[in-house]
Amino acid sequence: MSFENEHALVLFSGGQDSTVCLAWALQRFGKVETIGFDYGQRHAIELAVRPRVRERIASLDPAWAARLGEDHVLPLETLGRISETALTRETAIAMADNNLPTTFVPGRNLVFFTFAGALAYRRGAKHIVAGMCETDYSGYPDCRDDTVKAMQVALTLGMDRRFVLHTPLMWIDKAGTFALAEQIGGKKFVDLVVEETHSCYLGDRSRRHDWGYGCGQCPACQLRAAGWDKWTSVSGNRK
Ligand code: ZN
Repeated sequence: MSFENEHALVLFSGGQDSTVCLAWALQRFGKVETIGFDYGQRHAIELAVRPRVRERIASLDPAWAARLGEDHVLPLETLGRISETALTRETAIAMADNNLPTTFVPGRNLVFFTFAGALAYRRGAKHIVAGMCETDYSGYPDCRDDTVKAMQVALTLGMDRRFVLHTPLMWIDKAGTFALAEQIGGKKFVDLVVEETHSCYLGDRSRRHDWGYGCGQCPACQLRAAGWDKWTSVSGNRK
């Protein structure tokens, strides 16, 4: 099936996962817009890197540049205000009693999808693309495949408009995400992902590692570093 005439909206945070999702969408949909959310996250640097990532992605391929449409950043301070978590407060990142890390923002992706759906409706986008992943995630229940499928049904029914939610990373680990990046855009795109995207929960861009910038200690950095090591040891050509 060709998606050349179809319109997609990508949940784009400026992190590694959503950047690969953006390229994935640019590869197949005729028109691609992006949406980001400002909910007072500690790693607000993510939001700051977004324009540059978009700009550089567009420069990789004229076809992608032609397809890349508007960017939308929605303020969602309310979400930050009601969630006492390590992502929105100066709290230590650790495991809590519920076996979830203290970075867990309850219902975050449900809220994101709802707003993305509302915007997609207005913009005439049928496809919503997001970087949720069940493979090496931190156990966030709103990243689960069943949650995303339930949201697809809820949005489709609740707005009486057919939506398709795509999560191209759902069943691959971080090493697989690097491999997918290379498959989609080659070495240039992997370089862009490493250099420009931001995943560190602490917002640290002062330290540059082989796998990109970050504190190197937080769960997001550890996942990214482990994925890079695994991928480079398999591909054998990046170190
Ligand atoms: Zn970090």
